Amino acid sequence: MALSDTCFDCLIVGGGFAGSVLAERLASQLGQRVLLIDRRSHIGGNAYDCLDGAGVLVHRYGPHIFHTNAQRVVDYLSQFTQWRPYEHRVLGAVDGQLVPIPINLTTLNRLYGLDLDEAGAAAFLAARATPLPAITSSRDVVVSQVGEELYEKFFAGYTRKQWGRDASQLDKSVTARVPTRTTADDRYFQDTFQCMPLHGYTQMFERMIDHPLITFWPSTEFAAVKGAVRYRHLVYCGPVDEYFGYRYGKLPYRSLRFEHQTLDQAQFQSVAVVNYPAPEVPFTRITEYKHLTGQQHPKTSITREFPTDTGDPYYPIPAPENAALYRRYEALAERTPGVTFTGRLGTYRYYNMDQVVAQSLALFSRIADKYTVGAVAARSGAPV
Ligand code: FAD
Ligand code: UDP
Repeated sequence: MALSDTCFDCLIVGGGFAGSVLAERLASQLGQRVLLIDRRSHIGGNAYDCLDGAGVLVHRYGPHIFHTNAQRVVDYLSQFTQWRPYEHRVLGAVDGQLVPIPINLTTLNRLYGLDLDEAGAAAFLAARATPLPAITSSRDVVVSQVGEELYEKFFAGYTRKQWGRDASQLDKSVTARVPTRTTADDRYFQDTFQCMPLHGYTQMFERMIDHPLITFWPSTEFAAVKGAVRYRHLVYCGPVDEYFGYRYGKLPYRSLRFEHQTLDQAQFQSVAVVNYPAPEVPFTRITEYKHLTGQQHPKTSITREFPTDTGDPYYPIPAPENAALYRRYEALAERTPGVTFTGRLGTYRYYNMDQVVAQSLALFSRIADKYTVGAVAARSGAPV
């Protein structure tokens, strides 16, 4: 029988974390027959990694660092990968120096030629912080902690480049991702679990969907299979506004242009990521992958990120007017039977990978509950 004659229990659009986790759960736990498709030529969504022309393992869509406090998520993913311990450290090119980001004790001492201790750093920042009656925007978050000068040096330019708007026009949650510290802890994240998949993300995804009930079609548009394949339920991990033909207008997303480069030297910079907050530098950061992957190679590969409005939808833009527009699509989604929207694009949320995995596991639990209730009702003859 041709696959086009098969009736799938579920068609999942999008082979990133959202779609792949759900496909794995539905197949392995409920015995459902799943068709997973992606318009890209590969699995993994934005977390996809591969060897470049020189054989260096790179992340095609920018650096992906795995960190979480959710043990459930770690336990789940650990079925498909071993881990390589990795604590992320970022430097910022500020005033002609490379200093730790997030701003910490060392950052202040280097930038201002001081020898502060922890209490001294707290006092230094308190003297500069701008007291505000309410913290509503991403600008407020920063100036209320470190004052205008450090805001300008570290956040104003980077944020304007990254989001194409001023930090005062972004939800406070955006810059709140980057804390300020008075200790010398220079790790970017403080989560309990910080590791990279030992053999890369793509191998982890391949193992996740390696199940006889999962069929994966890369380079496949939803529009191309919609009328051509039979399925009972649709899970859509693409942009929710696109699904509805932009009925209420486009949801704004921010995109990136990646400039990849392989260099004839073993190392380019001392850490995986160096940020360039200055407005006159057109890119936001440079990533050198070998720090993330631990790969030994005589060459090294780096990526510069140039934010843009056009291109793949990488970042939902957290701002009140966008949330309002999304709520209209969300209401429409709720009135659309047989379709579930999930993932970073399907629910228009600035989620990290672990949050998307958690979202998919929670969605699976809800589906499994209904499935069990349905099966019991069917056995007892009650209406399902
Ligand atoms: P995606 O990975 O975007 O997958 C959605 C898939 O759906 C895509 O592959 C797309 O091609 C496909 N698709 C969409 N529409 C259609 C259609 N109509 N037909 C067929 N296919 C379709 N998170 C972290 O935790 N740590 C990090 O360090 C980190 N760094 C990041 C760096 C960058 C530059 C970016 C952009 C994101 C980063 N993230 C990071 C976030 C992370 O990428 C996301 O949380 C995660 O990949 C979201 O998974 P997803 O499945 O929801 O979406
Ligand atoms: N940010 C900044 N300067 C920096 C690092 C971050 O202004 O050096 C701001 C910027 O607005 C960024 C946000 O903080 O988008 C969140 O940073 P994070 O590194 O968490 O973003 P990610 O790249 O993970 O999406």
